[in-house]
Amino acid sequence: MTNLLNSLRNIVGTQNLLSQSEAAQRASHVWDARPLQAMALVKPANTKEVSAVLAACHAANQSVVTHGGRTGLADGEKSTTSDIVLSLERMNQIESIDTSGATITVEAGCVLDSVHAAAVENGFMYGVDLGARGSCTLGGNISTNAGGLSVLRYGMTREQVLGLEVVLADGTVLTSMNSMMKNNSGYDLKHLFIGSEGTLGVITRAVLRLRQKTHSVNTCLLAFNRFEQANKVLQILSAKLNAQLNAFEIIWNPYFQLVTDPDISGTAKAPLDRDYPVYAIAEARGTAAEDDKALFERVLENILEEHLLADAVIAQSEQERKNIWHIRENLDPLLSFCPNYNYDVSLPIASMQSYVEGIESEVQKKWPTAKCFAYGHMADCNLHITIVPFPEYVSESFALSNYNAPIDQKLVEEYYEQCNQIVFEPLKPLGGSISAEHGIGTLKKQYLPYSRTSAELALMRSLKNTLDPSNILNPGKVV
Ligand SMILES: Cc1cc2nc3c(=O)[nH]c(=O)nc-3n(C[C@H](O)[C@H](O)[C@H](O)COP(=O)(O)OP(=O)(O)OC[C@H]3O[C@@H](n4cnc5c(N)ncnc54)[C@H](O)[C@@H]3O)c2cc1C
Repeated sequence: MTNLLNSLRNIVGTQNLLSQSEAAQRASHVWDARPLQAMALVKPANTKEVSAVLAACHAANQSVVTHGGRTGLADGEKSTTSDIVLSLERMNQIESIDTSGATITVEAGCVLDSVHAAAVENGFMYGVDLGARGSCTLGGNISTNAGGLSVLRYGMTREQVLGLEVVLADGTVLTSMNSMMKNNSGYDLKHLFIGSEGTLGVITRAVLRLRQKTHSVNTCLLAFNRFEQANKVLQILSAKLNAQLNAFEIIWNPYFQLVTDPDISGTAKAPLDRDYPVYAIAEARGTAAEDDKALFERVLENILEEHLLADAVIAQSEQERKNIWHIRENLDPLLSFCPNYNYDVSLPIASMQSYVEGIESEVQKKWPTAKCFAYGHMADCNLHITIVPFPEYVSESFALSNYNAPIDQKLVEEYYEQCNQIVFEPLKPLGGSISAEHGIGTLKKQYLPYSRTSAELALMRSLKNTLDPSNILNPGKVV
């Protein structure tokens, strides 16, 4: 190993190769303060150095775990002291913006927030937004095919990527920096790497689509007596808002109660009564402020007249809008339960209510005082579920692996298995997916057959063997 570490030092320079103990000074995840485990951490400055690092690791049969912002929620970024961690943090530049083609070219270590800022400065916007925007990187977004809050309108990260540069396991540089909407010249290889969670190659650069900047935003919080009404309202808003609907987020009562609880510090003030069974946040964005506001209000008035809403409030200022979104985005009260088990599933919208009720009932059979929280990107068929078997245990440490409650770690894992069964099993007959947007990593690997056929899994393994025959890239993840 000394030889390999010397080679890596020669490639990136002494100050850009951290030893095991230096790497341990950083946290392993944004939600897990325990020391990062790595044999060494290497910080290349450009694609050429990434290529040389991978070629050296390939020759030494050395496993490599690629790191962006360490905000992933499937343990895909998890490493051990046997792995070299390859961090893209020095490759964080926005290379260029093409205003006539509406594209932005970035290095993979660019933080999502900085892409948003650069797009806006140039009169555009970038179509993917998510809660981890201040830490997650474009490389991480692409390799997990991140979704987020505007998928309904702009699609997932896959829909934003026009071109990609990737370094393969043996150091080969694959440059497909296409910048055009249309390019059917053979296989579209970039799609192999989007969503592959660092198992097929290291993404180094990308060309992304930009969208026209919107100038108006209209946001409301809606309350319903029944889930079916929320579904109907989603359909009406989609049809009547002239394609301006940007987000439609569903929140069932237990989550709403928790994140608006006045006794918990940092929670949002509830703008509506806290006892309705279901809530939704709807947001529309357009380009003609006055007309957009009038249309938004008119459509909501019509919905009220049809008795589909129990109550509603429209944000009258940016502060009120932020307060509404804080209800959806502030996960701290949820994550302070120990342990908490988080899921990210997709299923047909029409089955969501019965699915949530089924899970609540199974959970309560096992742990009578348990809590089950459901919320998510309803319009994208994506629900987040959090199961808390023992709501009486609360602590500051968030991550499942860093949990600090007065029950044994072995039990924490046992309960996790039981929750997995409860959440994943009913997805099978519904044709649902065990991961809508966070990916498989190691957390959901054993359950992949719930969502993929054996033929699909065999092809995935065959692709992995072809692109990374020595299995050095993120070994043991996904397949
Ligand atoms: C508060 C919060 C809210 C979130 N909300 C959402 C959401 O709404 N929607 C959503 O989809 N996700 C969400 N996430 C999950 C997370 O932000 C995304 O998965 C993000 O895309 C990961 O980016 P990252 O740079 O942090 O990657 P990391 O966590 O560092 O890595 C994630 C995976 O990508 C691989 N990887 C990273 N960079 C590269 C690269 N350059 N080349 C190849 N592989 C690479 C890693 O090996 C790992 O497998 C959220 C996370 C948090 C903490």
